[in-house]
Amino acid sequence: QESDILGFTRIRRVAPIAVNTHGGRAKCLQRLIRLDLPVPETVALSFDAVHHLAEGQKFDKQALLRVFGDAPLLSVRPSSEDPDWGGPGAILNIGMNDARHAELTASHGAEAADALYLRFVQSFAVHVERLDPELFEFDASTPVSEALKSALEAHEDETGEPFPQDAAEQLGQVLRSMARAWEGTTARLLRQAKGAPADAGLGLIVQAMALGVGPGESGAGVIQLVDSDTGAPLIKGRYKRQSQGREAVSGEVDALYLTRDTRGPSLEEAQPEIFATLVEISKKCRTRLREEMQVEFTIENGKLSILDAVRVPRSSRAALRIAVQLAEDGIIPRTEAITRVPARSLTELLHQQVDPSAKRDVIAQGIAASPGGAVGRIVFNSSVAQSYQSRGDPCILVRRETTPEDIRGMHSSVGILTERGGVTSHAAVIARGMGVPCVVGASMRINSRERTLELADGRKLQEGDLLTLDGSAGVALLGAVDMLPPVKDHWYLKLMEWADAIRDIGVRANADTPMDAALARDFKAEGIGLCRTEHMFFEGDRLTVMREMIFASRHEDRAEAIARLLPMQRSDFIELFRIMEGLPVCIRLFDPPLHEFLPSDREGAKELAEALDLPLSDVTRRIEWLSEFNPMLGMRGVRLGITFPEIYEMQARAIFEATIEANKHGAPVVPEIMIPLVSAKREVELVKTQIDGVAAAVRTENGAEFTYRLGVMVETPRAALRAGDIAQNAAFLSFGTNDLTQMAYGLSRDDAGRFMNAYVQQGVFPEDPFHMLDFEGVGELLKIGAERGRLARPDVTVAVCGEHGGNPESIAFCREAGFDYVSCSPFRVPVARLAAAQLVV
Ligand code: PEP
Ligand code: MG
Repeated sequence: QESDILGFTRIRRVAPIAVNTHGGRAKCLQRLIRLDLPVPETVALSFDAVHHLAEGQKFDKQALLRVFGDAPLLSVRPSSEDPDWGGPGAILNIGMNDARHAELTASHGAEAADALYLRFVQSFAVHVERLDPELFEFDASTPVSEALKSALEAHEDETGEPFPQDAAEQLGQVLRSMARAWEGTTARLLRQAKGAPADAGLGLIVQAMALGVGPGESGAGVIQLVDSDTGAPLIKGRYKRQSQGREAVSGEVDALYLTRDTRGPSLEEAQPEIFATLVEISKKCRTRLREEMQVEFTIENGKLSILDAVRVPRSSRAALRIAVQLAEDGIIPRTEAITRVPARSLTELLHQQVDPSAKRDVIAQGIAASPGGAVGRIVFNSSVAQSYQSRGDPCILVRRETTPEDIRGMHSSVGILTERGGVTSHAAVIARGMGVPCVVGASMRINSRERTLELADGRKLQEGDLLTLDGSAGVALLGAVDMLPPVKDHWYLKLMEWADAIRDIGVRANADTPMDAALARDFKAEGIGLCRTEHMFFEGDRLTVMREMIFASRHEDRAEAIARLLPMQRSDFIELFRIMEGLPVCIRLFDPPLHEFLPSDREGAKELAEALDLPLSDVTRRIEWLSEFNPMLGMRGVRLGITFPEIYEMQARAIFEATIEANKHGAPVVPEIMIPLVSAKREVELVKTQIDGVAAAVRTENGAEFTYRLGVMVETPRAALRAGDIAQNAAFLSFGTNDLTQMAYGLSRDDAGRFMNAYVQQGVFPEDPFHMLDFEGVGELLKIGAERGRLARPDVTVAVCGEHGGNPESIAFCREAGFDYVSCSPFRVPVARLAAAQLVV
């Protein structure tokens, strides 16, 4: 009698109910019953039972019905393993027929009886028999008795039969139709999109109705103890008299507030005792279910029933506060609070966000390259961006793609939108570093001659038009859409404190400028893992000096330009060391191909010729000379350093002189110098000899001591394979997974965006490998490199500093492989810190 009636289980304290056999709702109802809450009689159908129903297996409906006693009214609701996977909508008032209608008319009044019957006929006709919904819709002015009559007639007209009167028959049909709906293709695809396995099961819950209509205080509602947007403690919910299910929250105007409210009547005033009981019950649910629950209740003639409870729906911000508050109240351990907040959701919190409830007109769709929301006016080039910024008018830089030349424009913009590019294209990397929202590879066309933006639907936008960028969703929206502010509140800080206390892999930041470094400190990075020094050369008048250096054809001229760059670099490093207060700072020597510093069009070349006081033809000839067929595989990184040793010498000198200077004032600095794009041991030897020489010279000149660590960036496959050799001259190996991915696949990081979507859609790559580390291929290079490096030099520090460093799955991989730290853009540092802690729990 207690359990297993034909695979149906009466939910009791001891009934065998599990989430993976009966679903989350069934399990939760059992918990409510164990808390002695007034839950009406409830029966759970297991995944297996429901599957058999869908297959058409017969079952004894009468036996199921008998569980509920004499002539009951029932509801059926879905119970999937994870509530996010959805399921068919609830059906209420099963069992209504002419006889019940007559009885209820006598006991509850005609109005209530008509309403109950009508509601059931409507949902049965539309959701079970799949009749045209329009035939069963009535406007609010139609009297219920009339609507009921029309609905019953419409049913008979459509099916040729009177409305089914047998309760067992009704129940059987409802159950079977819900079981089949779950197995339909659309439902399956929808839930798979939410991460459900292909064979996810559905359980069903059959429950005796508490009516919510009729004499006395009757109605239904929901209650929760926190605000869904902020997570702040607050009694929230609505109650509607003479209603059922969730009608009170479906935007009905005549619902009551729960607590006293100036806007209208409340349950607290109308029914203080019931209200107090409800609050007690909600609190009990919170502590005993160890979660903030939304409780669904019904009052029937003054008697309270609890029908169901679900996790309070919540924003990312609320999820964080709820988890921390539960831990602070001793309801869950801190470690559990850490696991309850999805690490990625932090990115969302640390940026201003486009208000999800605001009206939006999506004008272009692309790749979400850097999160957050921004509103600004469209500009098509850097100089216009700068003039907007100088006027204090926020702008969004819209480019086909960005190049290092655009850096000033990017710094002057609040958002970046490009037509081309993927997640590690120039625009994406720089934008993430700056914490500026960015969408790349967007579905639109820039007409640079007309200075217009042509949208897929034919509309055209011009410079100065207002645009909203949603870098978290990867879309551009027309006009200025409302924003939600970023949060770094008590709850965020607490959670991060707990996370840092347990994590066992270091987290540093990639930071190029003092502004980045300050951000890195703010996000509690344990140092700088990658300072891309070339970015410092794009600032202000340095670009001109840089260009002079590149244009020098004689050694003396080059030395002269370099001498002017030295003090600038030195002051950069002094500033970085000052901000980082003794934390490690890893400075990468100059990496990009020189031509990146040159103008890309004729107009730019003319400007440069003027600045350098050279004939235009000299300038264009030099640009041609410097241009390469394959610059990313050409003279860049250490190759440039070995060909023009003056550049690395100057940088090393700037670093050492800055170290001496910083040591005079603050915590001692041990700079880390990193050589990019290495592929052979000899490259490291040459650069090491050169830099050791500079260090010796600087020591003597200044009569000061300092130490430094020289390391290698492992970003060519050969460097990973030869890591044993290379580590002999390297105190650390830092894997540059952007270039390593590019070279392992032979896949241009700047062009991959063009076909990446097709590749991922057709399953060639499970994910964009620039976005998600390819564990099998690139990952193997990482493991080989770390292993061979460590074997040759056990104390070598192993790290990753590519974009993957901030990605939770990659962090898990690196931790598993024994890496010492990961380094990522400042805004991803909190994500990395939390993700790393979650790996320990
Ligand atoms: C890398 O290649 O992974 C890297 C960090 O360097 P960059 O992105 O500057 O090439
Ligand atoms: Mg690189």
